[in-house]
Amino acid sequence: MSTIDDTHDPAASSWVPGADDHPDFPVQNLPLVVFSHGDVAPRIGTAIGEQVLDLTALAQQRLLPEAVTRALAERTLNALFALPGAARSALRHAVFLHLTSASNRDRVRAHLVPSAECDLHLPFAIGDFTDFYVGIHHANNIGRQFRPDNPLLPNYKHVPIGYHGRASSVRPSGTPVIRPKGQSRAPEAETPEYGPTRRLDYELELGVWIAGENPLGETVPIAGAADRIGGLCLLNDWSARDMQAWEYQPLGPFLAKNFLTTVSPWVVTAEALAPFRIAQAPRPAGDPRPLPYLWDEADQAGGALGLDMEVSLLTSAMREQGLPAHPLSRGPASNMYWTIAQMIAHHTANGCNLNPGDLLGTGTISGPQASAFGSLTELSGGGKDPISLPSGETRGFLENGDELTLRATASAPGFRPIGFGACTGRVEPARL
Ligand code: MN
Repeated sequence: MSTIDDTHDPAASSWVPGADDHPDFPVQNLPLVVFSHGDVAPRIGTAIGEQVLDLTALAQQRLLPEAVTRALAERTLNALFALPGAARSALRHAVFLHLTSASNRDRVRAHLVPSAECDLHLPFAIGDFTDFYVGIHHANNIGRQFRPDNPLLPNYKHVPIGYHGRASSVRPSGTPVIRPKGQSRAPEAETPEYGPTRRLDYELELGVWIAGENPLGETVPIAGAADRIGGLCLLNDWSARDMQAWEYQPLGPFLAKNFLTTVSPWVVTAEALAPFRIAQAPRPAGDPRPLPYLWDEADQAGGALGLDMEVSLLTSAMREQGLPAHPLSRGPASNMYWTIAQMIAHHTANGCNLNPGDLLGTGTISGPQASAFGSLTELSGGGKDPISLPSGETRGFLENGDELTLRATASAPGFRPIGFGACTGRVEPARL
């Protein structure tokens, strides 16, 4: 896994105006993105302040390491994430040098474009998407709504629970959220009905972009699992709770989840996150020790992340009244019962192959208090206790016109904070 080096120096300064004070994208971050600008086909770039630097063009001009030149000519990051980690690290160092030193400044500056003028695309051709359930407070809260007597099932503390999601409906931030239609059964009703969901919700999650590949039949040992983390993003696992409650037994989520999953377009790399690794919170006394294939001391010592995540909501009425987005929750990503390396080791424990550009979701990350609940159904007690908004409106679940935004910032003493950018979606009425 990546180490701390000169690219994390908090005193490092970029010549790009505004970059040093940028809340998300100072030169210590350098997230990867697939973008297009004007008539040019999608290409690979990095964020620096409010600009995107065209890495595809820099590679064509032989300003980047030979090892990444071919991968940077692609329209997705899959080829780059198939390379050994050393190649991505070399790329980071080269880009860092270009953006902090004067030597090639004029040649590099010619390949900056304002982010606001770019279309940001899905960064990978996603082969597979798996969503986990490692937010233990969320698992408790949701479990209580679905099974009041038995919120946490007996396997939870032994197995990182997950299910296979759908890759075709993962889309980048800004994609409209078309209210899904589906089958559900009202609590008092005898028969189900089909129609637009009445319980549309979001889920605050981290997304993990897989690097490298393990052949089918080969496991990834827990000690090597962190090397498979290529980068992270924000992930909103939009959920139709009425459909979910009716369909989830016995095989788990299906149409309640696969109508759309939104990811932030910037890939915050494992290299950039090196200073923000923290110890995994110790398991509460009495919890079982995981089986050896899930346990690694180094992972426990540095396999969690010092990340703060937040959710905000802007309704149509708030937009019309000129009100700012209203914060719904804020909390640390450390509320995960399993580390990302444990998720990867478990996913491959049977020989399942993970490929470059595969996407893992952590599951909703909620804190123990309501101020850190990562979904609306938790905040509103399953809709029974709607939350109040500055516009005078209330919300049990999302209404048409509601715009939901996820954000996250990594910070650590002695380092410059870096951010993930926004992961946004606005709800549109169901299609006829
Ligand atoms: Mn989820």
